Amino acid sequence: MSKTKRGRVLWNLPSRGRGTCPVCNMTRIKLLYSRSKTDGTVLKVCKRCQGAVQSRIDAVTGS
Ligand SMILES: [Zn+2]
Repeated sequence: MSKTKRGRVLWNLPSRGRGTCPVCNMTRIKLLYSRSKTDGTVLKVCKRCQGAVQSRIDAVTGS
């Protein structure tokens, strides 16, 4: 397995792996972690929100 969270691989991702975190609304942060809402929706979240409690994830509206 190659590293997928640092280095050159990030430059192949849309927006180079950066965006606005739907959980904490931090802009231009790296969204490298997936969290699933209880309804099955998968969100890309930042490192900080990787460990967020499930209720914080479920509170996100939209995709
Ligand atoms: Zn976040």
